[in-house]
Amino acid sequence: MSKLIVRLTDAPKPLPDLATVQFGTNFSDHMAVASFHPASGWSQPEIKPYAPFMLDPASSCFQYGYNAFEGMKAYLGPDGKVRLFRPDLNMRRFERSVARLALPPIDGDAILELIKRLVQTEKRWVPTLSGDSLYLRPTVIATRPAIGTVASDYSLLFILACPCRPYFPRPVSLLAMSDVVRAWPGGTGADKIGSNYAPGFLPQREAVAQGYDHVLWLFGEERRVTEGGVMNVFVVVKREDGGWDVLTPPLDGMILPGVTRASCLALLSDPAFRARVSASVSESSSTSTDATGPTLHPTERTFTLSDLERWFAEGTLLEIFLVGTAAIVAATHQIGFDGRVVVRVPTHTEDPHGLGPVGSALREKILAVQEGREEYEGWGVVCE
Ligand SMILES: *Cc1c(COP(=O)(O)O)cnc(C)c1O
Repeated sequence: MSKLIVRLTDAPKPLPDLATVQFGTNFSDHMAVASFHPASGWSQPEIKPYAPFMLDPASSCFQYGYNAFEGMKAYLGPDGKVRLFRPDLNMRRFERSVARLALPPIDGDAILELIKRLVQTEKRWVPTLSGDSLYLRPTVIATRPAIGTVASDYSLLFILACPCRPYFPRPVSLLAMSDVVRAWPGGTGADKIGSNYAPGFLPQREAVAQGYDHVLWLFGEERRVTEGGVMNVFVVVKREDGGWDVLTPPLDGMILPGVTRASCLALLSDPAFRARVSASVSESSSTSTDATGPTLHPTERTFTLSDLERWFAEGTLLEIFLVGTAAIVAATHQIGFDGRVVVRVPTHTEDPHGLGPVGSALREKILAVQEGREEYEGWGVVCE
């Protein structure tokens, strides 16, 4: 990073109207690039005008889905500073993904410095409206110019930036599928690598054809719930003792270890946060005799589609929501399976995103930290 080269465009683009622009289609003026050559190691990093690459057509990235990526957002705070959200977690995951692909190692700390410089360079591209952000896509592709099926000793790192709106304004529906899997034991479901995603597009298209938004990915004979679309899943279930279980599948190698997932679990394990959610429930409930509200029990635990159906039938299924950087927290209102709707969750019309009290409190808190309106455990990292 001490050798960074910055070359600025002499033709800055007009800023897009985010109300009309589709996610991930409108990139900023510049990109960051560095390449690895087996003889000379990593090149000097560069920030330069956004432009196409010229690559050898034999490059291994074109043959074997050979790449790894990250997704992060930069938010403009009320103090005029731009912040990243827990970027160290993204960088550690990026390092793991690259290592899993036997690509030349990357230095996540150096890449984070490069990301911060790119964000500073593109400051005018960081949207100002609450919820809007500058989405960042660090990527490493394998560029060994040969089609042999061996690990690439060449790679290309690049970072793109595009302004975006929150991904899901409204509650989503999920189609559970039992004949396709996203990930499997011993596979790469826990890594953010390109080859995990393209095989999901056909099932996704099928889900949309049947009128659903995303696939609910199941695993095994017992139909374990793993992920929804490309997001982690949480459910809130009422217990016999009146408390609420807040469940998400454990990191068993098939689940992508989401930064948002980890942040939801961390908040839910904070007694002050839990107490605030409980109090909001008891305030909004006219029938509640319990002045303190339900006790929340966050748990990483496997659950199945039949569990969801049973909880729905018993009337104990309170919330289902999906979490990830793009959406933060997205309400889910129904799940289809085998040609019919098998699970319904009431959408909360009092919440602008249709979220129940747990999902809504998580979304609000995370967004407040992301936007620098609140400080929490050093999660907001200023780009300076
Ligand atoms: C990126 C991703 C997530 C969410 O991870 P975040 O770090 O919270 O954005 C969840 N599932 C899949 C499959 C993903 O690719």
